[in-house]
Amino acid sequence: MQNDDRCLFCRVVAGTIPAKKLFEDDDVIAFEDINPQAPTHLLVIPRRHIASLDALLPEHSETIGRLLIRASEIARSRHIASDGYRLVFNNGQSAGQTVFHIHAHLLGGRDFSWPPG
Ligand code: AMP
Ligand code: ZN
Repeated sequence: MQNDDRCLFCRVVAGTIPAKKLFEDDDVIAFEDINPQAPTHLLVIPRRHIASLDALLPEHSETIGRLLIRASEIARSRHIASDGYRLVFNNGQSAGQTVFHIHAHLLGGRDFSWPPG
């Protein structure tokens, strides 16, 4: 599926919905979550529309690999890496996915419990 103007995060990519963007390159955008669950709570998304982990195909390997590396770089640049942080992909309804454009939640700046809720 190509970028879709009915998809919330495709609209963030297109700039038709405002977002506090902290990073962007040719593949990936990172912006602040509108409802933060930690002192640092960013969403790291690919520019291209992929609905979820469940929709991943081998052709997405490079995009997702770059997203993960960017997330780790952003964590270091935000000084949350040395204490530890979470990178979370919710997949599907039971996991709480509400936006069906794949995104990693980058959470840091506090302690996290395990198992997650
Ligand atoms: P998920 O529930 O894993 O699909 O995560 C979706 C996330 O998107 C939630 O944490 C929301 O707070 C966040 N969110 C929804 N709309 C926006 C928006 N316009 N800008 C930034 N974050 C958003
Ligand atoms: Zn999308």
